[in-house]
Amino acid sequence: MALANDFAQSLKLQADIVRIVGDYVSLKKAGAQNYSGLCPFHKEKTPSFSVHATRQFYHCFGCGVSGDVFSFVQKIENITFPEAVRLVAQKLGIPLPKATYSSPAEAQEAKLRTVLLEIHERAVAFFQECL
Ligand code: ZN
Repeated sequence: MALANDFAQSLKLQADIVRIVGDYVSLKKAGAQNYSGLCPFHKEKTPSFSVHATRQFYHCFGCGVSGDVFSFVQKIENITFPEAVRLVAQKLGIPLPKATYSSPAEAQEAKLRTVLLEIHERAVAFFQECL
C-alpha cells in the first residue's frame, strides 16, 4: 500500500535507530557516529554489533545481519513489517494514518464500513425526502 509505505519512510526519518535499538541492546559509543554492543541475534562475548547513527542502519560483524530500524524490530520481536512500523510509531508516540492496516482482512473490513456508512447516509437522505 503506497500510503503505508510513505508513512514508513517518514517514520524512518524521524526514528532514531540508536534509540530504538538501545531499547533492546545496551549500546556504547564506539566512534563519532557509531555505537556498538553485544549482538542480540547471536551469542557473543565481545561486541561486534554496530549501529550507525547518521546512516541509520545496524550491522553485525559476527553473524552478518544488517538492516534498518524496521528490519531490526521485525527480527528482534519476530513480527511482520507493518507490525514493526506500528511498533516504531508507538515508541515515537506518532499516530498511525488511518489507511495503515495490519492485515488485508482489516483493510477489507474498513472498506466495508465505509460502504455501509454510505448506504446508511443515502437511506437517511431518501427518508428525509419522503417526509
Ligand atoms: Zn550477530
